[in-house]
Amino acid sequence: MSVIYDRVALIGLGLIASSMFWAMKRAGLAGEVTGYARSEETRAVAREIGLCDRICGSAAEAVEGADLVVLCVPVGVMGAVAEEIASALKPGATVSDVGSVKKAVIEAVGPHLPDGVHFVPAHPMAGTEHSGPRSGFAELFDNKYTLIVPVEGSDREAVDRLEQLWQAMGARTDEMDADHHDLVCAVTSHTPHLIAYTMVGVADDLRRVTDSEVIKYSAAGFRDFTRIAASDPTMWRDVFLTNKDATLEVLGRFTEELFALQRAIRTGDGDLLHAYFTRTRSIRRGIIDAGQDTDAPDFGRVKKR
Ligand code: NAP
Repeated sequence: MSVIYDRVALIGLGLIASSMFWAMKRAGLAGEVTGYARSEETRAVAREIGLCDRICGSAAEAVEGADLVVLCVPVGVMGAVAEEIASALKPGATVSDVGSVKKAVIEAVGPHLPDGVHFVPAHPMAGTEHSGPRSGFAELFDNKYTLIVPVEGSDREAVDRLEQLWQAMGARTDEMDADHHDLVCAVTSHTPHLIAYTMVGVADDLRRVTDSEVIKYSAAGFRDFTRIAASDPTMWRDVFLTNKDATLEVLGRFTEELFALQRAIRTGDGDLLHAYFTRTRSIRRGIIDAGQDTDAPDFGRVKKR
């Protein structure tokens, strides 16, 4: 494949930025990639493992001359980082982000960007419970969707080019508006994470089940909850604080359904439970048929760090 952007700057050097770097390198999609993270420790690790072609001492220095700048920091600091880099952006550059929430990021970042800079938000629907500069790998986005969320007046050419980059990094792409994105993610990602956090918290509270029993017998569904509940606390705090409306909407529906199932268990309504589980089983089949997961006993998840 050939170079899509001569100069790319990655701000924040965690799981997503490092995976982007390795995916761009795998296919030769960028001439030079610069990087910046706030701590000296992360910048030192990045230099040590060859993450980015050049690690800079400030975000402004990293974005100088860049054709594409991707904000890969927690959602809650996107606005502050945009403000920090605004005056150093090259006219005609594209600024994108990978935040898990879109409406709040667009509201926080958009006002800081100067005229003549294109803003094209995006969200790769791929991740692991690991974070930091060592956690990335080139295959993270392969066959997973990246949602492109153009803002009002987004330049078509800039949108197409960013979409081309994500596809060349292995992803499938779709475009949608910010409100719809936030609702889709509340259903498919944000609320499931909250449920996993809650379930692991409940198991921890139930002192009658000892820690060793929880670990020993966790091959059942609980194991996957613990994996999800090990996700980065800062990232997920910011997700819930910024995707408040959609998450509360989905949680409201969730608790209603939970009460209905609780009632069915109490009253011995086996027909209701069976019908419910039959419906949900077909959703799982749909996910596998769409190529978004596998039927393998380990869920096809190869451990990579
Ligand atoms: P991560 O591994 O925790 O890395 C975050 C990076 O941001 C770190 O390098 C951190 O630097 C840096 N950072 C934090 N505050 C900063 C600031 N003020 N200025 C400059 N750098 C700063 O996070 P991640 O998982 O890659 O997530 C990054 C973004 O992708 C988030 O917005 C998240 O919502 C989104 N996302 C995550 C996933 C997922 O599954 N993880 C999936 C899709 C999208 P230090 O190391 O120096 O603290």
